[in-house]
Amino acid sequence: MQYFCPIVQTLEGHKPSPYLPPGTSILKLNSNENPYPPSPNVMAALRTLEGDWLRRYPDPYAHTFCDVAASVLGVPANWLMVGNGCDDLLGLLFRACVNQERPIVYPIPTYGLYRTLAEQCSAPVIEISYPADHALPLDQLQQAQGALTLIASPNSPSGHQVPLFELRHLAESVPGILAIDEAYVDFGEGSALGLVHDYENVIILRTLSKGYSLAGLRFGFAIAQPQLLKGLFKLKDSYGVDAIAIHLAAAAMADQTYKNTCISHIKAERTQLTMALRQLGFQVNPSHGNFVLAQHTHAKTIHDTLRHQDIWVRHYHQPKLHTKLRITVGTPEQNQQLLKAMAEAIPPKN
Ligand SMILES: *Cc1c(COP(=O)(O)O)cnc(C)c1O
Repeated sequence: MQYFCPIVQTLEGHKPSPYLPPGTSILKLNSNENPYPPSPNVMAALRTLEGDWLRRYPDPYAHTFCDVAASVLGVPANWLMVGNGCDDLLGLLFRACVNQERPIVYPIPTYGLYRTLAEQCSAPVIEISYPADHALPLDQLQQAQGALTLIASPNSPSGHQVPLFELRHLAESVPGILAIDEAYVDFGEGSALGLVHDYENVIILRTLSKGYSLAGLRFGFAIAQPQLLKGLFKLKDSYGVDAIAIHLAAAAMADQTYKNTCISHIKAERTQLTMALRQLGFQVNPSHGNFVLAQHTHAKTIHDTLRHQDIWVRHYHQPKLHTKLRITVGTPEQNQQLLKAMAEAIPPKN
């Protein structure tokens, strides 16, 4: 079939994890969803919605959300832009920056969507491997002269967080945009948000999917100086974020106390899970996300055994990651269930 343009013929396409309907008995620890329900504030806001919200087109600028987020984050409301998930904003950024003269640049391993998006828009790409200690390869990133340089911090799947001074250095030394993907910021230490005040080429990306338990809502936002956002607004679908999402996202953002409570539970469980996995013989580095990356010679076998018992963890078919499993931190009960099955899934040493 030759109906589409040549790139589409060659694209592999992104393969999302299979959808599980609510109430499933499968223990799904492969997508870094938050195990706790969204804030009661969100559920209350959902019940107040009336037909008129749906009859009209939504606010393209999502003022209700931006006003709340601006006061929480301490930035002007016009430094914010919303998207249909952080992925939507990433897509926008790629389309805005793609350029045959300058590449899209990012260190790996990282969020797999970056490569998919680059392929979709036929962008030249330079991927630079992180060294074993996860120090940011600053010289190589700078030498790559990217139109768009992307850093996920905290990063997935490694779980490490890039120090602020390294990001600052990068912001100063790249010729193009520096996008800092803070999808996991709520589980880390501090943020790079302050850099948007100092650098006009920095854009911070956030999502409500992880920290706010709202992966199903599809809501992300970006923070940058208005001049930079202005360019992105030209490419944005005006009504890409629906009225319900804007309303509920504002309610979620307004309830920082609830979010912070969930986060502190997850962080405490992350410590427990890390120690328990080490005792089972995994090598686990400290994580700043709501997941851990656990290394074991038999990672693939363990993954497959767990899968047969309806426990899903993430395994990567990539050279540097094939002995590793990325495991989302669940509730204490879920983590106990995982660890029990894990202990039995590890092949005996011989
Ligand atoms: C989950 C994730 C996203 C996607 O966020 P959505 O708002 O759900 O689209 C973006 N970047 C990273 C690094 C992520 O892990």
